[in-house]
Amino acid sequence: MRRNEDPGYAEWADQQDVEDIKVQDATIGSEITVPCELCGTPTRMLGTKRCDGCWEIERRINHQPELARKILTARGEEQELQNQQAEQLISEETQC
Ligand SMILES: [Zn+2]
Repeated sequence: MRRNEDPGYAEWADQQDVEDIKVQDATIGSEITVPCELCGTPTRMLGTKRCDGCWEIERRINHQPELARKILTARGEEQELQNQQAEQLISEETQC
């Protein structure tokens, strides 16, 4: 007897199909969302409460925390420099 002709297998396969559809309905059909804990974007990820973007960033930071720290530190220094330049411009303007 071939597998497909086995009534037990056919029944099992039918149940699998039903389960697949149920899972799809639960994920694709669901409109239940929560705000992302980091940026507030509504997300269906009720467990992690991270939208796709934040989940991806967080995953990469967790993977390479030292690199993430370097990037953020460099960015902080850049911002500091811009603030100094802006203050200088303002003080020059007020002198004129
Ligand atoms: Zn987010």
